[in-house]
Amino acid sequence: MISKVLIANRGEIALRVLRACKELGIATVAVHSTADADAMHVRLADESVCIGPPPSRDSYLNIHQIVAACEITGADAVHPGYGFLSENAKFADILDAHGITFIGPTADHIRIMGDKITAKKTALELGIPVVPGSDGEVREDDALEVARQIGFPVLIKATAGGGGRGMKVAHNEEELSEAVSTARSEALAAFGNDAVYMEKYLAKPRHIEIQVVGDGEGNAIHLGERDCSLQRRHQKVWEEANSPALNREQRMAIGKICADAMKKLKYRGAGTVEFLYENGEFYFIEMNTRLQVEHPITEAITGIDLVHEQIRVASGGGLSVTQDDIVFSGHAIECRINAEDPRTFVPSPGTITHFHAPGGLGVRVDSGAYQGYRIPPYYDSLIGKLIVHGRTRVECMMRLRRVLDEFVIDGIKTTLPLFQDLINNQDIANGDYDIHWLENYLAETTPPKAQ
Ligand code: ADP
Repeated sequence: MISKVLIANRGEIALRVLRACKELGIATVAVHSTADADAMHVRLADESVCIGPPPSRDSYLNIHQIVAACEITGADAVHPGYGFLSENAKFADILDAHGITFIGPTADHIRIMGDKITAKKTALELGIPVVPGSDGEVREDDALEVARQIGFPVLIKATAGGGGRGMKVAHNEEELSEAVSTARSEALAAFGNDAVYMEKYLAKPRHIEIQVVGDGEGNAIHLGERDCSLQRRHQKVWEEANSPALNREQRMAIGKICADAMKKLKYRGAGTVEFLYENGEFYFIEMNTRLQVEHPITEAITGIDLVHEQIRVASGGGLSVTQDDIVFSGHAIECRINAEDPRTFVPSPGTITHFHAPGGLGVRVDSGAYQGYRIPPYYDSLIGKLIVHGRTRVECMMRLRRVLDEFVIDGIKTTLPLFQDLINNQDIANGDYDIHWLENYLAETTPPKAQ
């Protein structure tokens, strides 16, 4: 059994995990950098340990400090949240060697899914449909032959990829060699690994992902899908569950394929199988072996607490539900509130002078922000998530409009005004959008910057 969890993260997700631990009667340890000493996750934890100076590599990514903090406090498990060390197989191995439970999958599964070529091969073997592409790595000398086989346009992607970096489109033979070399150098700069592969570039897909949870013993379930097509620079901005594009039959069919795959893999913990969806077909792009930022919309429509399930399976207690217990109810939308200019997306750190979170039926705000909070400039600009649930998509949108009017964050710029625009847009109302919709919309509606 797990009795004390160290939360190796910060911000809203540290708070999210802390809340689940409290509900389960598990003691909590927060870790923080010197920049986060007054953060909400530190204030609400039973104990806290300062693990270093502001830069992430010296604090939230510092494995030695985190293991030392476990030993000092007697924490017997670590929840990594998302980002930082959540998909670091070496971290999972080191915790294991110290007899500390990693609340997540096995290090081997993290490794398999962390390398995109291995992940795609594994997905194929497990019966998951994948995007047509190269068998493995491509190089300058074989890129043309591979691209001709796949057919233009093609996308060059980094095998170590993440966050949309190291990705380049080539529309024709002329653009190919430059796309390969740019993708390579971006990948080297971002991940220290310049290996790239090639995929068919899908013109107007939606991004649809399936939430799975496994017990590590061969039982696994799916919790339906999330539609995360509204993206900017491959970063998700607004997410919905269910997808406006799928019916129940399609949902259950793709969900079953993913759950069956996780059973075969004996996957442990929460995970997300990500697909592009076009003309009724699903194409696997990657699997994330962790909790996702957008997990609360799945919780809203299923009533299942995903962090509770993660902790249960990590301590060998199995899943609390079977597939037949899962009932999908209503519709949920998440808006990511970033401390950024709502049009240029330039970060806007600073002090929040006034903060008022909305409330009422079907409203959830996950945020570590409060009045007087100083947002440090060192980390991701996500300062909160607004999750709204309704019995239907129409009711959910009506509620979201009301809630956005109620939300006040002063002193810094946030992405709230963007959502106020989106909620009044006809395409959004119709659920009629693909992964390029938001960028096109921003290009059409943002006045060019004054020189
Ligand atoms: P990362 O790990 O860098 O986020 P992903 O493989 O998850 O990379 O892809 C991120 C986003 O890039 C997708 O949500 C989609 O918008 C776009 N994308 C990825 N692969 C393709 C493809 N083959 N065709 C078109 N768009 C793609």
